[in-house]
Amino acid sequence: MRAEILKSVTCFVQDTTIPDTVTIDALSNVINLCEYVFQESYSYFEICTCEICGNIKIVKKCILPINEGVLNKHGFAKIVDAIKEGKVLKPKCTKCDKERSVSVSYGAQLFIESSIITTLQDIPLSIQLDEQQYTHVGCVVYHGQHSQTSVGHYTAYVRNGTNWIEYDDLLRKPKKVSVKTNCYINMCIYVET
Ligand SMILES: [Zn+2]
Repeated sequence: MRAEILKSVTCFVQDTTIPDTVTIDALSNVINLCEYVFQESYSYFEICTCEICGNIKIVKKCILPINEGVLNKHGFAKIVDAIKEGKVLKPKCTKCDKERSVSVSYGAQLFIESSIITTLQDIPLSIQLDEQQYTHVGCVVYHGQHSQTSVGHYTAYVRNGTNWIEYDDLLRKPKKVSVKTNCYINMCIYVET
């Protein structure tokens, strides 16, 4: 299953030196997989309209663009600020160089990439973006370090009321984790409520 998914992901280098054999570099991260599996599930829409020449540019993203600097500096407490500063397009029209109006909206879910270590309790349960309200449902956590002998491991931490449950494919059963657990959050997921 993993090979089936990975072989279609264009960002992986495929070795074609051996005939009839496709070697897949499986050193993917969770963001590559998310973009592949949820191709039509956009977190972010941006429409830029130039009022002078009428040039319209639309951006749709599966992974929510954020200002990573804000997140790295202040942690998830400032996630809304990081999202608000994540605009993709430049405010000037590429055709006539005049200011254009930018309209941003968010999808039914938000896939947020991060690379910070934080405790689970520091991730806000609910956030508000304009008129839309989102609830945090879980995150993908990276364990270990990428080295010559290991590429690390991903597990999923899911919110269940006030509890957190860890799903780890190396364990037979899900297990409860403390909100004080410090972890390397690689992806955070919010859903609209
Ligand atoms: Zn223009």
